[in-house]
Amino acid sequence: MQRVYNFSAGPSMLPLGVLERAAKEMTDYNGSGMSVMEMSHRSPVYQQIIDKAESDLRKLMNIPENYKVLFLQGGATTQFAAVPLNLMNKNRKADYIVSGQFSKKAADEAAKYGEVTVLASSKDRNFAYIPYVDKFSPDADYVHICWNNTIFGTTYNYTPATGDIPLVADMSSGILSKPIDVSKYGLIYAGAQKNMGPAGMTLVIVREDLVGNARESTPVMLDYKPQVEKGSMYNTPPTYAIYIAGLVYEWLLETGGLEEREKINVKKAALLYDFLDSSAFFKPTADKEFRSLMNVCFVTGDPEKDKAFCAAAAKEGFVNLKGHRLAGGMRASIYNAMPYEGIEKLVDFMAKYEKENG
Ligand SMILES: *Cc1c(COP(=O)(O)O)cnc(C)c1O
Repeated sequence: MQRVYNFSAGPSMLPLGVLERAAKEMTDYNGSGMSVMEMSHRSPVYQQIIDKAESDLRKLMNIPENYKVLFLQGGATTQFAAVPLNLMNKNRKADYIVSGQFSKKAADEAAKYGEVTVLASSKDRNFAYIPYVDKFSPDADYVHICWNNTIFGTTYNYTPATGDIPLVADMSSGILSKPIDVSKYGLIYAGAQKNMGPAGMTLVIVREDLVGNARESTPVMLDYKPQVEKGSMYNTPPTYAIYIAGLVYEWLLETGGLEEREKINVKKAALLYDFLDSSAFFKPTADKEFRSLMNVCFVTGDPEKDKAFCAAAAKEGFVNLKGHRLAGGMRASIYNAMPYEGIEKLVDFMAKYEKENG
């Protein structure tokens, strides 16, 4: 078996053990005589799968009782609309902090449904940092942030203190990378395909008082209330994606939970950033205090050299290192499933490449 080191930003690597277990269970899940893909979502055997996924996630993230967990579809992008439809209803106003492309898209989508105030943006330096914000519109229905910027490789090093105003966070690329205090947020959402499972499932964690206020015209599929009432099964949920995410949650619990995961992630990221800081050929692009643990962005300063490096790396089995077109250069996405050894080998390769080409 030949597995590459896959640095894709998403869909991205999954833990090998999870893939192997899924393969083993592919044609006969737990004596049911069928694949999870072939099961009715209404069957007791599937109910057990989704219930366990939820309870394992609650354990992992220490999710308080008064928060609902939803496994939905449509990706994080669908939540760009679902959030305002459900939450922007008292004053029809919301505050957004724009720290990258996805938070910009989220703000633009919300502006279709009410008055959006962009409190701050880091566009002036191509999103190399996270703006510090401590003043919010007193009548905002919520404040929205993108917690980890997948494209530019930055992450919040503080939690905006929004007081009574619900804080909403797109955590697509950072969720499960370290412990967070869920109670500081009104709502958290994340597409699964970065750090949690296959594409097709979107996680929403929502405080229960924020459910049930959707405006009249909200499409039923975007209204959190019926999804809460039906246990994420208003219609057919993404059954297989939820099953795989459940295996990922199990793997995280078995390997020490999120405290342990943070230690590993800090060590992994430090190895790569330390190398980049010492390199004369490669340069990291994010400001030091906002560096993401999950998406490490860097450049050579010359697009032709970037291209040549990515091609040489791919030949050695380090694939998908090309940066997003808005950021240029390179991006190594080093989510939970990327082993430490993958980064050790990448750094060895980069050092050798620098010696020969720098
Ligand atoms: C990938 C990503 C998105 C878009 O996710 P989809 O699931 O493709 O809609 C939104 N926000 C962030 C932070 C992302 O990383």
